[in-house]
Amino acid sequence: MRSKVEAMTCAACLNEDRKHGRTSYWRRIHHLPDVDWCPIHREALLKFDPKAFRHRPTDALAQGPGVRLALPTAFDAASILGRYAGLLAHWLQRDFVGSSAALTHVIRDGCTSHELRWTETGRRPLVSDLIARQVPTEWLALHWPDLLTKTPGEYFARLDGPSKDKHVSYPGAACALVLATLFDSVSEIQARLEEAESRFVSSPDTVRDGALNAAYLDFINGAKIDTACRTQQVSAEQLEQRIRDEAKRWSRATDGAPRATPHRRRSPLPASASVHRPSVAKSSGLEPLSLALAQ
Ligand SMILES: [Zn+2]
Repeated sequence: MRSKVEAMTCAACLNEDRKHGRTSYWRRIHHLPDVDWCPIHREALLKFDPKAFRHRPTDALAQGPGVRLALPTAFDAASILGRYAGLLAHWLQRDFVGSSAALTHVIRDGCTSHELRWTETGRRPLVSDLIARQVPTEWLALHWPDLLTKTPGEYFARLDGPSKDKHVSYPGAACALVLATLFDSVSEIQARLEEAESRFVSSPDTVRDGALNAAYLDFINGAKIDTACRTQQVSAEQLEQRIRDEAKRWSRATDGAPRATPHRRRSPLPASASVHRPSVAKSSGLEPLSLALAQ
């Protein structure tokens, strides 16, 4: 998979900057994970060594042409990859905040309508099978090579996991690819996510989760277990279980398994706040968007 720290730019964007008398700059939209084209101009991006971030893109281009990234066969707005890029760009610009529970719900709806399973075992195909079949092979070979060697029906956790496990936050790029494969447009996906969110945020489960999160945070900040439980009105067993769960997630995160949702470790917000934003190269000097999407 491509390193996320390379400096990428679009020649057409630079031309527009020049035309309007603007100083060129490295854009976040050119650093969406695995999007090798400019979502605005649909032209191949030019890739430069990370050292290029010290200069402006026009200066980097003046010193050398950069490496032109390969374009997939289909990446227009009606294609899966077009929706994938559109969704990531949308999340980047909207600072969309969504819950893992709502995301899992929407993905399961999509799996149902495509007659896919989301369990690890079973006869029906998985969303990873659909992605392997429908997404241009040359793009998968660059960014998801393991998917091309898996056998049909074989569970592929990085793409099949988001439909199964609402307690784990998967990278936004993986979630975007799954959603873009299951649904027909970015606006439909976003509407479904927001609708699911509005249902999950006000559910009694979420309110209970909120108290537990608050107690957990009190404990992390130094309160004794019984004090945290009394203050937030949760049982000691619940809080102890929560602490064990978090410890397990931490140890799994260091194994390269999908990471726990950051807010569950440090925020009193309910299970609603995994942030789905595309990660952007930290060395770009741009805001690091590593939250749930970091890879
Ligand atoms: Zn462009």
